[in-house]
Amino acid sequence: MSIENTTPKLLVFAAPSGAGKTTIVKYLLQKFPQQLAFSVSATTRPIRAGETDGKDYYFIDENIFRTKIANGDFLEHEEVYQGRFYGTLFSEIDRLTKEGKAVLFDIDVVGATNIKKQFGNHALLVFVKPPTKEALIERLTNRSTETEEEIKKRTAKMEFELSFEEQFDKTLINDKLETAFIDAENIVAEFLNSEN
Ligand code: 5GP
Repeated sequence: MSIENTTPKLLVFAAPSGAGKTTIVKYLLQKFPQQLAFSVSATTRPIRAGETDGKDYYFIDENIFRTKIANGDFLEHEEVYQGRFYGTLFSEIDRLTKEGKAVLFDIDVVGATNIKKQFGNHALLVFVKPPTKEALIERLTNRSTETEEEIKKRTAKMEFELSFEEQFDKTLINDKLETAFIDAENIVAEFLNSEN
Protein backbone atom coordinates (compact mmCIF):
# COMPACT_ATOMS: atom_id res chain seq x y z
CA MET A 1 0.00 0.00 0.00
CA SER A 2 1.15 3.58 -0.52
CA ILE A 3 -0.03 7.12 0.01
CA GLU A 4 -2.91 8.05 -2.29
CA ASN A 5 -3.66 11.22 -4.25
CA THR A 6 -2.78 14.39 -2.32
CA THR A 7 0.75 14.88 -1.04
CA PRO A 8 0.68 14.94 2.74
CA LYS A 9 2.34 17.50 4.97
CA LEU A 10 4.27 15.68 7.66
CA LEU A 11 5.57 17.23 10.86
CA VAL A 12 7.89 14.84 12.59
CA PHE A 13 8.95 15.33 16.20
CA ALA A 14 11.69 13.04 17.41
CA ALA A 15 14.02 13.14 20.39
CA PRO A 16 15.90 11.07 22.90
CA SER A 17 13.47 9.46 25.33
CA GLY A 18 12.60 11.88 28.13
CA ALA A 19 13.33 15.08 26.18
CA GLY A 20 9.71 16.18 26.60
CA LYS A 21 8.64 15.59 23.02
CA THR A 22 5.28 13.98 23.87
CA THR A 23 4.26 16.95 26.04
CA ILE A 24 5.08 19.33 23.20
CA VAL A 25 3.24 17.21 20.63
CA LYS A 26 0.12 17.12 22.85
CA TYR A 27 0.29 20.89 23.28
CA LEU A 28 0.51 21.43 19.51
CA LEU A 29 -2.50 19.19 18.86
CA GLN A 30 -4.73 21.26 21.09
CA LYS A 31 -3.27 24.51 19.74
CA PHE A 32 -3.89 23.61 16.07
CA PRO A 33 -6.96 21.30 16.21
CA GLN A 34 -8.19 22.18 12.71
CA GLN A 35 -4.84 21.85 10.97
CA LEU A 36 -3.00 19.03 12.75
CA ALA A 37 -3.79 15.39 13.48
CA PHE A 38 -1.75 12.83 15.39
CA SER A 39 -0.36 9.80 13.59
CA VAL A 40 -1.26 6.85 15.80
CA SER A 41 1.54 4.29 15.52
CA ALA A 42 1.28 0.56 15.94
CA THR A 43 3.40 -0.98 18.70
CA THR A 44 4.05 -4.31 20.39
CA ARG A 45 4.91 -2.77 23.75
CA PRO A 46 2.42 -3.24 26.59
CA ILE A 47 -0.15 -0.51 27.16
CA ARG A 48 0.67 1.85 30.07
CA ALA A 49 -1.72 3.25 32.65
CA GLY A 50 -3.54 6.24 31.18
CA GLU A 51 -3.11 5.16 27.56
CA THR A 52 -5.97 4.29 25.20
CA ASP A 53 -5.78 1.73 22.41
CA GLY A 54 -6.41 3.42 19.05
CA LYS A 55 -5.63 6.86 20.46
CA ASP A 56 -2.10 6.69 21.84
CA TYR A 57 -1.12 3.60 19.84
CA TYR A 58 -2.63 0.62 18.12
CA PHE A 59 -1.43 -2.02 20.57
CA ILE A 60 -0.91 -5.26 18.63
CA ASP A 61 1.04 -8.45 19.24
CA GLU A 62 4.29 -9.31 17.51
CA ASN A 63 2.74 -11.84 15.12
CA ILE A 64 0.29 -9.30 13.80
CA PHE A 65 3.05 -6.70 13.58
CA ARG A 66 5.20 -9.10 11.53
CA THR A 67 2.28 -9.90 9.22
CA LYS A 68 1.79 -6.19 8.60
CA ILE A 69 5.51 -5.82 7.78
CA ALA A 70 5.22 -8.73 5.32
CA ASN A 71 2.13 -7.14 3.73
CA GLY A 72 3.98 -3.85 3.21
CA ASP A 73 1.53 -1.96 5.44
CA PHE A 74 4.19 0.17 7.13
CA LEU A 75 5.60 3.45 5.84
CA GLU A 76 8.38 2.88 8.38
CA HIS A 77 8.91 0.58 11.31
CA GLU A 78 11.64 0.06 13.88
CA GLU A 79 12.56 -2.23 16.72
CA VAL A 80 13.09 0.88 18.84
CA TYR A 81 14.04 -1.15 21.92
CA GLN A 82 14.92 -4.82 21.97
CA GLY A 83 11.74 -6.81 21.45
CA ARG A 84 9.64 -3.65 21.16
CA PHE A 85 8.40 -2.79 17.67
CA TYR A 86 6.90 0.52 16.58
CA GLY A 87 5.67 1.56 13.16
CA THR A 88 3.70 4.05 11.10
CA LEU A 89 0.95 2.56 8.96
CA PHE A 90 0.32 3.94 5.46
CA SER A 91 -3.40 3.70 6.24
CA GLU A 92 -2.96 6.16 9.09
CA ILE A 93 -1.36 8.82 6.91
CA ASP A 94 -4.04 8.31 4.25
CA ARG A 95 -6.79 8.66 6.81
CA LEU A 96 -5.48 11.94 8.22
CA THR A 97 -4.44 13.45 4.91
CA LYS A 98 -7.96 12.83 3.57
CA GLU A 99 -9.25 14.91 6.50
CA GLY A 100 -7.18 17.72 4.99
CA LYS A 101 -4.83 17.82 7.96
CA ALA A 102 -1.08 17.93 8.34
CA VAL A 103 0.14 14.83 10.15
CA LEU A 104 2.04 15.15 13.42
CA PHE A 105 4.42 12.35 14.39
CA ASP A 106 5.96 11.42 17.71
CA ILE A 107 8.47 8.79 16.61
CA ASP A 108 12.09 7.75 17.09
CA VAL A 109 15.05 9.39 15.33
CA VAL A 110 15.57 6.57 12.81
CA GLY A 111 11.89 6.54 11.82
CA ALA A 112 12.05 10.32 11.38
CA THR A 113 14.97 10.15 8.94
CA ASN A 114 13.20 7.36 7.02
CA ILE A 115 10.19 9.59 6.55
CA LYS A 116 12.43 12.42 5.35
CA LYS A 117 14.01 10.12 2.76
CA GLN A 118 10.58 9.30 1.35
CA PHE A 119 8.92 12.72 1.56
CA GLY A 120 11.74 15.29 1.28
CA ASN A 121 10.43 18.85 1.66
CA HIS A 122 6.94 17.61 2.47
CA ALA A 123 8.29 16.43 5.81
CA LEU A 124 9.73 18.76 8.46
CA LEU A 125 11.91 17.05 11.05
CA VAL A 126 12.09 18.68 14.47
CA PHE A 127 14.68 17.44 16.97
CA VAL A 128 13.59 18.06 20.55
CA LYS A 129 16.58 18.36 22.80
CA PRO A 130 17.00 18.70 26.55
CA PRO A 131 19.42 21.42 27.72
CA THR A 132 21.87 18.79 29.06
CA LYS A 133 22.29 15.02 29.13
CA GLU A 134 21.98 15.09 32.91
CA ALA A 135 18.58 16.76 32.62
CA LEU A 136 17.52 14.00 30.30
CA ILE A 137 18.51 11.18 32.64
CA GLU A 138 16.82 12.96 35.51
CA ARG A 139 13.55 13.36 33.58
CA LEU A 140 13.57 9.75 32.53
CA THR A 141 14.07 8.57 36.10
CA ASN A 142 11.44 10.92 37.57
CA ARG A 143 8.80 9.98 35.03
CA SER A 144 8.33 6.61 36.76
CA THR A 145 6.26 5.17 33.92
CA GLU A 146 9.04 2.69 33.12
CA THR A 147 10.66 -0.07 35.12
CA GLU A 148 14.32 0.26 36.13
CA GLU A 149 15.20 -2.16 33.34
CA GLU A 150 13.42 0.02 30.75
CA ILE A 151 15.17 3.15 32.07
CA LYS A 152 18.56 1.43 31.65
CA LYS A 153 17.71 0.52 28.05
CA ARG A 154 16.62 4.05 27.27
CA THR A 155 19.64 5.71 28.85
CA ALA A 156 21.95 3.42 26.88
CA LYS A 157 20.30 4.53 23.68
CA MET A 158 20.55 8.23 24.42
CA GLU A 159 24.02 8.84 22.94
CA PHE A 160 23.00 7.18 19.69
CA GLU A 161 19.85 9.27 19.48
CA LEU A 162 21.64 12.54 20.22
CA SER A 163 23.93 11.93 17.23
CA PHE A 164 21.00 12.36 14.82
CA GLU A 165 20.48 16.05 15.44
CA GLU A 166 22.32 17.24 12.31
CA GLN A 167 19.99 15.24 10.06
CA PHE A 168 17.00 17.26 11.30
CA ASP A 169 15.58 20.47 9.82
CA LYS A 170 15.08 22.19 13.18
CA THR A 171 16.28 21.83 16.74
CA LEU A 172 13.94 22.73 19.57
CA ILE A 173 15.61 23.07 22.95
CA ASN A 174 13.29 22.07 25.74
CA ASP A 175 14.67 23.88 28.77
CA LYS A 176 11.72 25.91 29.99
CA LEU A 177 8.54 24.30 28.76
CA GLU A 178 6.74 27.62 28.21
CA THR A 179 9.47 28.79 25.85
CA ALA A 180 9.59 25.44 24.07
CA PHE A 181 5.81 25.66 23.48
CA ILE A 182 6.15 29.06 21.82
CA ASP A 183 9.12 27.94 19.71
CA ALA A 184 7.22 24.82 18.64
CA GLU A 185 4.15 26.86 17.73
CA ASN A 186 6.25 29.15 15.54
CA ILE A 187 7.87 26.20 13.76
CA VAL A 188 4.49 24.62 13.07
CA ALA A 189 2.85 27.85 11.89
CA GLU A 190 5.70 28.50 9.47
CA PHE A 191 5.52 24.97 8.05
CA LEU A 192 1.72 25.04 7.70
CA ASN A 193 1.95 28.31 5.78
CA SER A 194 4.75 27.09 3.53
CA GLU A 195 4.24 25.94 -0.05
CA ASN A 196 5.56 22.42 0.56
P1 5GP B 1 7.14 5.00 24.05
O1 5GP B 1 7.26 3.52 24.33
O2 5GP B 1 7.78 5.83 25.13
O3 5GP B 1 5.72 5.42 23.75
O4 5GP B 1 7.95 5.27 22.72
C1 5GP B 1 9.26 4.84 22.57
C2 5GP B 1 9.88 5.47 21.35
O5 5GP B 1 9.28 4.94 20.16
C3 5GP B 1 9.66 6.97 21.29
O6 5GP B 1 10.87 7.58 20.84
C4 5GP B 1 8.58 7.10 20.28
O7 5GP B 1 8.58 8.37 19.69
C5 5GP B 1 8.97 6.00 19.31
N1 5GP B 1 7.90 5.67 18.37
C6 5GP B 1 6.57 5.71 18.59
N2 5GP B 1 5.90 5.38 17.49
C7 5GP B 1 6.81 5.12 16.53
C8 5GP B 1 6.72 4.75 15.14
O8 5GP B 1 5.65 4.60 14.56
N3 5GP B 1 7.87 4.59 14.48
C9 5GP B 1 9.09 4.76 15.07
N4 5GP B 1 10.16 4.60 14.30
N5 5GP B 1 9.21 5.11 16.36
C10 5GP B 1 8.09 5.30 17.08
